Amino acid sequence: METIRLAIQAKGRLNEESIALLADAGISIEESKRKLLAKSGDFPIEVLYLRDDDIPQAVSMGVADIGIVGLNEVAEKPYEVDVVHKLGFGGCRLSLAVPKAEQYDSPKWFDGKRIATSYPKILERYFKENGISAEIHEIAGSVEVAPLVGMADAIFDIVSSGGTLVKNGLVEVVKVMDSEAVLIANKQMSAEKKKIVDQILFRFSAVERSKGMKYVLMNLPCDKVDEAVKILPGMKSPTILALAQEGWCSLHVVIRDSELWEKIEGLKAIGAEDILVLSLEKMIL
Ligand code: ATP
Ligand code: MG
Repeated sequence: METIRLAIQAKGRLNEESIALLADAGISIEESKRKLLAKSGDFPIEVLYLRDDDIPQAVSMGVADIGIVGLNEVAEKPYEVDVVHKLGFGGCRLSLAVPKAEQYDSPKWFDGKRIATSYPKILERYFKENGISAEIHEIAGSVEVAPLVGMADAIFDIVSSGGTLVKNGLVEVVKVMDSEAVLIANKQMSAEKKKIVDQILFRFSAVERSKGMKYVLMNLPCDKVDEAVKILPGMKSPTILALAQEGWCSLHVVIRDSELWEKIEGLKAIGAEDILVLSLEKMIL
């Protein structure tokens, strides 16, 4: 049987969530971070642990068939890969930021300025598209201190909460791209391997769909069922079961977390009782 090789970050911000996503999808990886390559006991997959910078190249060369990496790394590196699926974690953006004392008015401000970044290619493309000519200085880390020490006039870097910028006296002025972890794939994969990728994607989707959803059960006078269904519009129609006690029904429904309390209050108001809220592990449609 064919085995697929998946590259994930060996350590860093994407490592734990990559492994957790695999586990939720029923793919457990042998615990040994010291090894470069680990197998799964329950799925035809091998996991290759790499620096995130090396994942696009490994997948493009076919050293790994698929990989989990930030979209920012895919955009920065010159390697051709397919971006197969967004994974919903590792969210961040790549932004230009200037010292807060600067009189910044428009992107034209960057003309003739020195910008420090670890993402020179993405920045070069942005400047080109916007007719800006600035000096791009590539540095590997601690980009945010470059203006403080006089190495640059501004920076282009990863931002998530913005706390690091504030600490260093910088203000975000242009968001150039949004990023999150994505599943990437080699462009020339055998049909057999593609099938395994589809299987993985099917499982990832079931996990994703269940995120932010709750399974809710309650008892309700049967003559209130129509009203209950009206409170739950947009959802799949609820399951109604008769209870042993005459005139009472049990109603089962999946509710989005963000609407949970509002819906429950509405249901209580029409006489729902014994409401149970359960976590949902997977949703397979
Ligand atoms: P490696 O040792 O694998 O090269 P790294 O230091 O380059 O790791 P991390 O800091 O672990 O990378 O970040 C990995 C990815 O996490 C980033 O490329 C980005 O896609 C995502 N990310 C999400 N939020 C942030 C953030 N606040 N800062 C940096 N990266 C973030
Ligand atoms: Mg890196």
